[in-house]
Amino acid sequence: MNGQELTENIRTLNKEKIKEILLYKNQQQEELFSVAREIRQNGKFGNNAELRSVIEISNLCTQKCRYCGMGRNGKEIYTLSNEVIIDRITNLAKMGRRTFLLQSGENQNQKFVEDIAYCCREAIKKFPDIKIILCMGNLEKEQYKLLKDSGATRYILKFETSNAEHHKRVRPSDSIEHRLSCIQSLIDLGFQTGSGNIVGLPYQTLDNLVDDLVLIDKLNLAMVSATKFIPNEFSEFKDFPAGDIDITLNFLAILRILKPDCLIPSTTSLSTGHTDGQKRGLEAGCNTVTIHDGTPKELEENYSIYSEKRFSPGEEFCRKIVLDSDMVPQVYLI
Ligand code: SF4
Repeated sequence: MNGQELTENIRTLNKEKIKEILLYKNQQQEELFSVAREIRQNGKFGNNAELRSVIEISNLCTQKCRYCGMGRNGKEIYTLSNEVIIDRITNLAKMGRRTFLLQSGENQNQKFVEDIAYCCREAIKKFPDIKIILCMGNLEKEQYKLLKDSGATRYILKFETSNAEHHKRVRPSDSIEHRLSCIQSLIDLGFQTGSGNIVGLPYQTLDNLVDDLVLIDKLNLAMVSATKFIPNEFSEFKDFPAGDIDITLNFLAILRILKPDCLIPSTTSLSTGHTDGQKRGLEAGCNTVTIHDGTPKELEENYSIYSEKRFSPGEEFCRKIVLDSDMVPQVYLI
C-alpha cells in the first residue's frame, strides 16, 4: 500500500486492511510511521510535543482490573494530603512545568473528590496559566462536574478494550456500557477528554483492536492513547506475555492517521523492555511525553499500576527523545 492507500484504508476503517497494517514490520512499518509523521506535521500541532508532569495522588482503588497490581503488592495504601499535592504542583510549576496530570485509582468517596477539586482550585489560583488533567476513573456525573467547576480542563478515562465480553473478562468489576457512559458524561460536561486501549491484553484479538479504533473514531476525543500490556507481577495476569511492541507502535501510527489533531502520548509502557520504545512512539506519530517526577519518591513503588519494574523518566530524558525526534518541547498544546 502506498501512503495514500494506507491513509484511505485507515480512515474508512477497512477492517481487513487495518489488520494487515497492524502486523507491519521493518520497511513497511517505517513507511507507515513516515505517513503518520507527515500527518502530524500537517495537523494542528505540527511538530510540537507536550511535556506534562504526573503526580500519582492516591493508590486506593475500588476496581479489580485483572491486569493491574494496584494495592496488591503489600505496600501501604496512600492518599496525598491537599498540602502535599499543592506543594508538589507549586515546586514543579516553579521549575517551569505547566501541565499536571493528577492520577489515582478509582475512588468515589465524596471527600476525596472534594479534596481534589480544592487542590485544583488552589493550584490554579497560584498559577493561573497551568492546565490540570485528571485521571481518576469512573465517578458520578455530579462529581465530574465538581472537578470541572474547579478549573480542571481535561480528563483521561481509557475504555481499555471495547469488546463487551473481553472487557468483562479483563475488568470484571466494570462494564463497557458503564465506562462509555462515564466517558460521555465527561464529553458532555465540556472536558477535553482522553481515552484509549491497552494493546496485547490477554485474550485480545486483532479484530478487538480494530473495534477499538472504530470506537475511538466515534468518540469526540481531544486525547487518544494506546499503552502496551505489561504483566504486573502482582496481578492476575502476571504469567501472560507482554504486548507486542510493533503492534502497539503500529496501532499508535494508525491512531495518528485517524486523528491528526489529537494529543497522543508515547507512554512509559513502550520503554519497558525496549530502551528506545518511547522515542519510537514519537517516530510513530505521538506528540506527548510524561515526566515522572511528581510523585514523592518514597511512594513511587506503592503505585503499582503496570509493573514493579516501572520506568520513571525525568525531564532530561523526555526532552532528549523529543529533540532527537526533531520535535519541539512545549509546556502544553491544548
Ligand atoms: S487499572 Fe486503574 S481502575 Fe483498574 S484496578 Fe488498576 S488502578 Fe484500579
